[in-house]
Amino acid sequence: MADGRFAPSPTGLLHLGNLRTALVAWLYARSTRSAFLVRMEDLDPVTSSREHEEVQLADLKAFGLDWDASVVRQSERLDLYRDAISQLSAEGLVYPCWCSRREIAEASQAPNQPDLPEGAYPGTCRELSSAERNERRSSGRPPALRLRGDGQVRTFVDAIHGEFSGRIDDVVLARADGMPAYNLAVVIDDALQGIRQVVRGDDLLTSTPRQMYIGQLLNLPSISYAHVPLVLSSSGRRLAKRDGAVSLAGQRQIGRSPADVCGILGASLGLGEKGPVRPRDLLTEFGRTTLPTKPWIASDELLGTAAPSAG
Ligand code: GLU
Repeated sequence: MADGRFAPSPTGLLHLGNLRTALVAWLYARSTRSAFLVRMEDLDPVTSSREHEEVQLADLKAFGLDWDASVVRQSERLDLYRDAISQLSAEGLVYPCWCSRREIAEASQAPNQPDLPEGAYPGTCRELSSAERNERRSSGRPPALRLRGDGQVRTFVDAIHGEFSGRIDDVVLARADGMPAYNLAVVIDDALQGIRQVVRGDDLLTSTPRQMYIGQLLNLPSISYAHVPLVLSSSGRRLAKRDGAVSLAGQRQIGRSPADVCGILGASLGLGEKGPVRPRDLLTEFGRTTLPTKPWIASDELLGTAAPSAG
């Protein structure tokens, strides 16, 4: 048994990459007769909305995915995350950080930085003297809270990508606006919801060592991971609205049903031929297939942006 989940951020329509990841997550769980849950990662009140949530859930259902318990919203669990921050603070593992994104980008480009993952924090506010800390405090700018990482490299075995290593940097636990941060919330929720296998996009591969570290500090059970390669447009970028029929609604407009889309996404994973299918039709094949490790390029034909052929 490896209970699984899909945890979208309700900030817009699910695109084909999200649906493909949700499909893989569902197949992993259902092929081992495990529970499958959906969680809304709606910690950002500016970009998240209930309207987006409703449309995303309707799309998952139309696509043929089902889940076992009511949908959990992170925005309703803030106390859990805050308790964890208090626990880590009491252990002396949390410090305030006043750096802006720009300062972080500049500092991480300075020479002699350790080999941190992209976007990692170079440690500027970590060793401030109390005078420096007071000076920043008196600026009135609220600080984010960061975890003191141990700076070590951690290795884990991803079910799709194999062995992966990353260094533990000082990850944000609470943002400057006081909201708990994704990297903390995701770890707590997966553990408390009984998730044993996290299946998600491989843009989060580099965040996994940090998340495993947070789980370890909080004495949470360990979890296995499978990171699904992203879907890219023919220009090699992540799918975005401008790329054409990137959502189920867009696909319907160009004449494809959710089952047609499921067949195409299934085939992109090496599961069966294109042609209308439901996720459950892919279960048998799933157990026999090695999933691809490279991104999948959505063709212009799929996205409805191919130039009409002459004649
Ligand atoms: N909420 C994240 C997203 O939509 C996914 C996080 C996760 O699966 O851990 O990209």
